[in-house]
Amino acid sequence: MRPVFQRPTFAPLLTDPGRLSRITVCLRPFRAQGPRIEVETLGEKRVVHNYGHGGAGWSLSWGSAAAARDLALEGGQRPMAVIGCGAIGLTTALQILRAGAPVTIYAAERTPHTRSARATGVWSPDSRIAAQAAAPADFPARWEAMARRSWVDHHAFVGLDGDPVRFIDQYNLHGGPGAGGPVGPAATPGRVGFARFGDRLSDLAPWSRELRPDEHPFPVDRVTALPIMTFNVAEYARQLTEAFLMEGGRIVQRTFNHPSELADLAEPVVVNCTGYGARALFGDESVVPVRGQIAWLTPQPEVTYALYYRSISMVPRHDGIVIQANGSSQMVGYGVADETPDRAEAEQALAALATLFASA
Ligand SMILES: Cc1cc2nc3c(=O)[nH]c(=O)nc-3n(C[C@H](O)[C@H](O)[C@H](O)COP(=O)(O)OP(=O)(O)OC[C@H]3O[C@@H](n4cnc5c(N)ncnc54)[C@H](O)[C@@H]3O)c2cc1C
Repeated sequence: MRPVFQRPTFAPLLTDPGRLSRITVCLRPFRAQGPRIEVETLGEKRVVHNYGHGGAGWSLSWGSAAAARDLALEGGQRPMAVIGCGAIGLTTALQILRAGAPVTIYAAERTPHTRSARATGVWSPDSRIAAQAAAPADFPARWEAMARRSWVDHHAFVGLDGDPVRFIDQYNLHGGPGAGGPVGPAATPGRVGFARFGDRLSDLAPWSRELRPDEHPFPVDRVTALPIMTFNVAEYARQLTEAFLMEGGRIVQRTFNHPSELADLAEPVVVNCTGYGARALFGDESVVPVRGQIAWLTPQPEVTYALYYRSISMVPRHDGIVIQANGSSQMVGYGVADETPDRAEAEQALAALATLFASA
């Protein structure tokens, strides 16, 4: 007899604003040219830059780190300093260490106080990664190599204790109660023309599938679903930090106020992974802030699916359910450096999600 497959059960998301445990804001370090991964000589230091990853820092981290590592090793000098302890600093430091060079990380902040700790935690390798018109001609191919390398390296963390990286099903909901428009802050006027390269990876990530009405409980007109790679950021950062320390790396708390302070370091090679901080430290105004806010609901371990509805994303993580109202376009938050949480924005998103669970 053929087995009978039941439709999956969906534990309802509890959208009561009373379950909000915190609201965090982060700035994506966007560069129209794409991330800066190149060598510069500053005084006697060989400085390798690795910053400006927009909304894709976690996703591209390993591939970008490999490119920066190769530049750092090229000169043959050691030991090495890495400035920054976010997604980019941790993965870069680990890759250099694993290539055999001693590494010290110097950073003003560590997890959970870095901006990386405030990311949504999904595979989004081309999110605000460059502007179509400003990226160099070879950038799409370099981006693809970084993304493919990262995709493979993230898999090494799937299935480990704490699920630093795991796949869950995301349901994209279209139409529905009131069929309102996108929810989120108003977009900044203007048009950047953000580059999209997702098609270059169409053989890589799982595909989306249209669901029949009897395959889901959502009161909407159309649903597509696909497995997505997610990052339990708190656990991922902890495991990266522990691996770095256990393998012989050192972390020193230190803030640099001017590039001339790099001269104080004993290391002849300095890898600059300061993210949005590079704008102030190196006076690099090509780094543009793109504000993004996350509302955190207390964890609901029984919620094992992600949603995308009216531009709101909901991702269940072990450290909380992250809700982000993305608004009408990628221009939302562009040029906005205000990191003040906005509770009204969070409650608006919860109210829209509540309509999906009204009868649950
Ligand atoms: C709302 C939101 C959601 C996001 N979601 C995702 C997602 O789902 N997936 C994804 O891939 N990306 C996501 N991103 C993007 C991602 O968060 C960034 O690309 C990433 O955090 C950048 O990492 P980083 O290590 O370069 O920077 P940071 O995390 O900012 O780390 C910089 C490090 O440098 C240090 N530093 C900076 N300046 C100095 C200084 N002067 N002296 C000493 N130390 C210094 C800091 O203390 C810190 O340790 C999101 C971004 C936002 C805003």
